[in-house]
Amino acid sequence: MELLTVEGVRKSFRALVAVRDVSLEIHSGEILGLIGPNGSGKTTLLNMIAGTYKPERGKIFFQGRRIDGRRPDQICRAGVARTYQQVKPFLNETVHENLLLAALHCEDSGGSEERVARSLSVTALESMEGVQVAALPLIHRKCVELARALTTGCKLMLLDEPMAGLNPTEVSQFSEIIRKINSIGVAVLLIEHVMRAIMALSNRIVVLDHGEKITEGKPSELANDPKLARVYMGTE
Ligand code: ADP
Ligand code: MG
Repeated sequence: MELLTVEGVRKSFRALVAVRDVSLEIHSGEILGLIGPNGSGKTTLLNMIAGTYKPERGKIFFQGRRIDGRRPDQICRAGVARTYQQVKPFLNETVHENLLLAALHCEDSGGSEERVARSLSVTALESMEGVQVAALPLIHRKCVELARALTTGCKLMLLDEPMAGLNPTEVSQFSEIIRKINSIGVAVLLIEHVMRAIMALSNRIVVLDHGEKITEGKPSELANDPKLARVYMGTE
């Protein structure tokens, strides 16, 4: 069984069809890259999976159960965690307090401290657990976002351009942390503009253009895909 199945979902804003009948699957333990030019519908698709938007058409299944139309907190409890394009941790709280809050979003309330400790370790934040998030540099704030998602006990993490604003060295560090999260059994849907990173991290990649899925494949297959070249010509 697929971990997540998206079947023909659609979302419009007035006359604009932002996501047009898109289908995709995410397998357990996989990193699926989602790319496409600005405005191609990536964030809107992620928002339908996370429950922010209800699809007008189509269905979404997570671990075999329908989740489209459920509330974001219900989808989170089912095992799907997300981060935002804009970093949104509680800035005045410490790293540790942020993670304890995230631990409340789990089905099993026991074991919060264990989950927090594991998240701190995977995201290399152990030495910063007592620091106010506002005092951290951007890369570590972004790691707090990952750690918060991880602490919910999710099976699937939805990441919307998590590397925006990072320099190349930081992109490498951050990619390594995403790999670590994936290696402990968490599947990832990764939206990212940094092509080098998405090509290196993804098992498969889905390409959107004007709200439609135009192609998908392994990074090695897509490198020579004329459809991808056409979409990115002049923009990359
Ligand atoms: P991407 O994340 O690929 O850049 P989005 O999913 O954010 O694309 O946007 C897809 C299209 O839908 C764009 O044309 C965008 O302007 C439009 N759009 C997104 N969100 C809204 C909204 N809340 N209201 C109106 N139009 C929106
Ligand atoms: Mg977006």
